Amino acid sequence: MPPPSTPNPPPTVRATPNPTGPHATGRTDHISAGLADLLIRASRQHGGRLADYIPELAHVDPDRFGIAMTSVLGRSYRAGDENTFTIQSISKPFVYAMVIDELGLEEVARNVGFEPSGEPFNAISLEPDTGRPDNAMINAGAIVISSMVPGINTDRQVRRMRAAMSAFAGRELELDEAVLSSEAATGDRNRALGYLALAAGRLDGSVADAMEVYFQQCSLKVSVEDLAVMGATLAHGGTNPVTGDRVVSELAARHTLSMMASCGMYDYSGEWMIRVGLPAKSGVGGGIVAILPGQFGIGVHSAPLDARGNSVRGVEALTELSDYFGMHLLGHPRSPLSPIVSTRDCDGVHTVAVRGELDFVSTEQLVHHLLDHCEQAEPATVRVDLSAVTRARPIAGRLLTATGDDLRRHGWEFQLLDSACLLTPDGDNATR
Ligand code: GLN
Repeated sequence: MPPPSTPNPPPTVRATPNPTGPHATGRTDHISAGLADLLIRASRQHGGRLADYIPELAHVDPDRFGIAMTSVLGRSYRAGDENTFTIQSISKPFVYAMVIDELGLEEVARNVGFEPSGEPFNAISLEPDTGRPDNAMINAGAIVISSMVPGINTDRQVRRMRAAMSAFAGRELELDEAVLSSEAATGDRNRALGYLALAAGRLDGSVADAMEVYFQQCSLKVSVEDLAVMGATLAHGGTNPVTGDRVVSELAARHTLSMMASCGMYDYSGEWMIRVGLPAKSGVGGGIVAILPGQFGIGVHSAPLDARGNSVRGVEALTELSDYFGMHLLGHPRSPLSPIVSTRDCDGVHTVAVRGELDFVSTEQLVHHLLDHCEQAEPATVRVDLSAVTRARPIAGRLLTATGDDLRRHGWEFQLLDSACLLTPDGDNATR
């Protein structure tokens, strides 16, 4: 691992006015102020080393420290320094998402596994029986994934990779040519991982071609805001909340978040899940992206790394942030809101108006309301009005259809007002 860098004094941290955040409307932005506060606390964290095994990465300013957060509604917040850095391993989940989207999970699973390796990012982590790299978040797996990017030649593959990365960020991402040549000049360990995968029959095409895609994806320049938007795109089921473009399918986004949750922070992934509780991915450029599904993408950057290759201050900032904003994925015990907004009895018709998202627990409440009502009344008409429902999971359709069939068998007339076809299993709004 990299040698010690100079000690890093606490930077001056401020919340930065943001064109897409509440500053745009002149409102006080307490969210960016909260980010600035936690940056100050995290900047007390010293130590860490620059990753100089890619020589060009040793030339970055170790004091720069910035954070940004974008919601699935497309609003952004930020604090600290604005700068760009190379994305490095944070490219892995995004290229993985694109390749899964294009080829499907099963095809990808032929070549790369799903298990945490518990080893450093550049370890030789290949399954003994199949020769598959353990997962796509470590170098060995990511190099195989890079070889699978669709395209009739390397040039097309690189273009496809860059188009996907740019679509995730919502802007054209540029290459850092100096880092790219530095990676290529010193990347023999990565080439060796490529050759091992090739020998095991897991690599598509040549090692040189795979390395071309891989080194380029690692050398793309991003800002913390880019990472926040890229993360928010995964949080938002694959649709970029700023541009509105669908980048990958909802299922590909879900598979990717699952991998990030178990493997994104290398051999710190288990403790990370305990302390921070967010799917995340770090890179040796000092960036980390973290995601709260359905809510936010977060990007943070500070170059000095700990022994596992994760940004020292980045880890600290995200640990604070998860606590401050109450973001831990598994820390959301909730009293489910009732989806029922009103009930009305008129001319023998019992109408139940429902709103919001019909997930499993809200549908369960609705079904029990219907059964309770029908047990206490003489058979007549019961009507469920879904016009204020924003989205329904397939389980809602299954439970309501089955309940309707039961009620009809008991002499009830059962009507579902679903003009937006939310309960149609293949409808756009449906998700598993
Ligand atoms: N480009 C780097 C490498 O291959 C990426 C590693 C990382 O960010 N962890 O070594």
